[in-house]
Amino acid sequence: MESTLPQIAAQLLTEVRRRFQELGHVPDELLQGLAFVFGAPTIPALDLVDNRSVSRLLSPSGRYAYQVLGRSGAVYTCLANSLYCSCPAFFYSVVRKSDVLLCKHLLAAHVSEALGQCTEVLVSDSTMAELMAFREN
Ligand SMILES: [Zn+2]
Repeated sequence: MESTLPQIAAQLLTEVRRRFQELGHVPDELLQGLAFVFGAPTIPALDLVDNRSVSRLLSPSGRYAYQVLGRSGAVYTCLANSLYCSCPAFFYSVVRKSDVLLCKHLLAAHVSEALGQCTEVLVSDSTMAELMAFREN
């Protein structure tokens, strides 16, 4: 997966994928590495992954996006490659304050992808276009 994440974050996710494939779980030191790099969103993101809250939406043209079911029941759309999430925390903590690299939804999408645990959902090209367009609204 192409990524616009900082290199250390991308490397860490690659390592998570490799170790998970090898061991069937993610070792503690890597979980600590995630918490170190991604900060406060790490634990809630891992909860979302555990709860299989991440869907990967695919369209016939090959575009994809993620939808993450938040604990409140709200569904957030994440564009992993352009590092965008529709949640308020993304706007306040990531874009405005630069406190953290990712919100918990984007991190959950990246980790679910690394672990192969996304639920795949096929959507039409027009649905995908709408999902991608609302970020400009
Ligand atoms: Zn988010």
